[in-house]
Parts: sequence; structure tokens; C-alpha cells
Amino acid sequence: MAQRHAVVVGGGIGGLSAAIGLHRVGWRVTVYERAAAFDAIGAGISLWPNAQRALGELGVHPPLAPQRGGGLRTARGRRLARWDAAAFERRNGLPLGVVHRADLIETLCAELPASSLRAGVTVTSVSPDGLVRHDGGEVRADLVVAADGIRSPVRQAFWPSSRLAYSGGTAFRGVARLPEPQQLSTTWARGTEVGVLPLLDGRVYWWVSEAVPEGIRHADARAYLSAAYAGWHAPIPALIASTPEILHHDVFQLATPLPTFTRGRVALLGDAAHAMPPFLGQGGCQAIEDAVVLAAAMSTSDTVAAALTRYDAERRPRSQHVAQASIRAGAAGPLLRNRVALAIRNSVLRLAPSSVTSMVGGDINAWSPPSLPQPQASEPPTNPAS
Ligand SMILES: Cc1cc2nc3c(=O)[nH]c(=O)nc-3n(C[C@H](O)[C@H](O)[C@H](O)COP(=O)(O)OP(=O)(O)OC[C@H]3O[C@@H](n4cnc5c(N)ncnc54)[C@H](O)[C@@H]3O)c2cc1C
Repeated sequence: MAQRHAVVVGGGIGGLSAAIGLHRVGWRVTVYERAAAFDAIGAGISLWPNAQRALGELGVHPPLAPQRGGGLRTARGRRLARWDAAAFERRNGLPLGVVHRADLIETLCAELPASSLRAGVTVTSVSPDGLVRHDGGEVRADLVVAADGIRSPVRQAFWPSSRLAYSGGTAFRGVARLPEPQQLSTTWARGTEVGVLPLLDGRVYWWVSEAVPEGIRHADARAYLSAAYAGWHAPIPALIASTPEILHHDVFQLATPLPTFTRGRVALLGDAAHAMPPFLGQGGCQAIEDAVVLAAAMSTSDTVAAALTRYDAERRPRSQHVAQASIRAGAAGPLLRNRVALAIRNSVLRLAPSSVTSMVGGDINAWSPPSLPQPQASEPPTNPAS
């Protein structure tokens, strides 16, 4: 049988993971990325045990920093709960891991033949029969994976009534280097969350989530944050002061879940399929899960159509459940503004045993990937058509 060819639209976490999975099960893969290079914005990403298992199945081992200590605090530094890393690991089999996004993308790219990676190519249209047009020509594929992100042009073309909704929160993010080693901390105040997660090499990833109306911008994000968080506990002011570049984005989610993730030979994957708010840190993790399930379905089904039916049946309920859980987590955490509810939440947290933190993410962490066939000893050289 001729080697089957998949075109992946978008070279983010989801698209690259899907390409690795398909390559592993014997497909020829071409990834089109409209940016000039395969790269990621300068921030970190948390990878929960479910995503770490999925990456392991893909044979991908990014430089993950395991989160071993720390806890949940108030703005003045009072501890609400200790992060019980041992209990988390006992319950989930793996620690919470954090990686710089650029390192994750680099690790993913290294698993693919260079000829599969086409940066600087914008896909302009995709047909259900597998015809992909881009700004340099066209190609016909057996499978098209639309991993083109939260504003997915492919989703908008096939599901024109799908809409994004503002999550209720805006996010600032950065990566800084401090002289002293740091530990995980999540700090909650009214309508605000500040997170601190150490990376492997002494750098620290941090974010600030604020429940504010959509569209608020600051001429100087650092000046704004430095003033707003000046009285907060260490190391928050120092992190803000020493971050070279601070990112600021309003956070969106799909307003209503999609009725299907597939159309003809096309599969939506990652944020394109199920954009969710980041309150459980699961958007990228779900994209990686999608990738393994898609590859497994392609390797065990007789036809692309049968595989896509299985992909949709497995991935839609799971990822939409996680998206709903993320929305609920935002309402009870970073977005909570009601003073009475805040006081009750903080009291409950103070009284709870530290092992309660092992339950963060709940059963979402328990997911295990389907098995992929072992890699073949020698892969034929890739010869992507474009
Ligand atoms: C503040 C914040 C914090 C987050 N924290 C976490 C976390 O801790 N853990 C976690 O798991 N998730 C987290 N997420 C979610 C995570 O970032 C996303 O779910 C994930 O990046 C989605 O990956 P993706 O590959 O689906 O999409 P993307 O990463 O958006 O990639 C899509 C790619 O497609 C390309 N593209 C688009 N259109 C075209 C086209 N026409 N032709 C060619 N290329 C195209 C884009 O350039 C882009 O590179 C967070 C999100 C936010 C906003």
C-alpha cells in the first residue's frame, strides 16, 4: 500500500504532537506553519500527568521541571494550603511538570524529519476531500489535521456559527531568573491569581490572572503590574521587575462545544477543536491527548473515515468535559470576586489536610493513552509534496 500522507495545518503543540504520532504509525507528514519559524512565545506551560503519559507514548521527553514543594497563599503570603507533592505523585503516579514552551516546541520538532516541517507557509483553504491550498500551491492529502489554534480558520470555514467567548479573565505571563531557587506558589486574592512555577534551569515561569472586562490595555505592563502587586509576597514583585518581556492576552474559550471534530478527511485538533480557558492548565495537555488518540485510531482502523469516527467519539466527550471543568475552576478560583464566597473558600482551604492538593485536576490526570506501535527501525526518507 502506498504510504499515506497527512497534512497538518499549524505547528503548535497540538500540530507537532499529531505529526509525531502519525509519523510513528507510518504516515508521511507535512506540517505547514504560517510563522517564519517553529517557535513559541516566551512563557512556560504546565504538563499534567495525563499529558506526560501521552508524550511518553509519542516517545517525546521534554525537559520538565517536577514541582516538588510550595503551596497556595494569600497576597500577604499567608499559607492557605501546602502543595503536597508526595501525595500528588502517589495519587497520580507522576509529578506536575512545567516546561518552557520554546523548549517543548524544540523537543517536538526534533522528533520529526526536517523535510516534514514547512515554516512560513499559510494554508488558505481546506476541503473535506483533503485538498489543501496554501500560499505556495496545493496538495491533496489522505488526512488533514487542522491544528490551527483558537481562532482556527478551518473551524470558522466549516462551522461558521462557532464563536469565541471572553472567559472573564485577562492574563499576564513571563519568565524570569532570580538569584534564589523558588517553589511553586499560587496566590489568590479577589478576582486575581498569581502563579509561580520554577523551570529546570533556574528560570521561573509566572502568570497573573485578573477578572476584568475584556479589552483593558496598559501602555506599560511592567509599570502597571509593579504598582498593582508591590505589596504582594516574595518573589512576586521581584519576578515582575526582572522579566525581560511581559506578555498580556485576554483569555477566550469556545462559546459552545462543537457537534463534531471531523468533516470528511479533516480532523480538528487542539484549541481549534476545544479552546478552553487555562484555569486547569489543560488546553495544551488535551491537544497532546488528541494527537495520540488520532494516531492510534489511524493505525488500527481500516479506513480514514472509520478512524475519524473513532477519534471524534473518543476525544469530543473527554475534551469538552475538561473544558467545562476549566470554566468551573475559573469561577471558583481566579475569577471569584464575591467577598463572602472568598472568605468561605479560604477558610475551607486552611482547614483541609495538605493532601487535598493531590486532588487538583481530579480524575482528569488519570487518563492513559492508547498504545502506539513501536517505531520501525528505519523510516523511508520523507518527500513532501507541496
Ligand atoms: C494564559 C494561558 C496559559 C495557559 N497555560 C497552559 C498550561 O499551563 N497548560 C496547558 O496544557 N495549556 C495551557 N494553555 C493552553 C495552551 O496554550 C493551548 O491549549 C495550546 O497552546 C494549544 O495548542 P494548539 O497547537 O492547538 O494551538 P496553537 O499553539 O495556537 O498553534 C496553532 C498554530 O497554527 C498556526 N496557524 C494558524 N493558522 C494557520 C494557517 N492558516 N496556516 C498555517 N499555520 C497556521 C499558528 O501560527 C500556530 O502556530 C494556556 C493558555 C493561555 C492563554
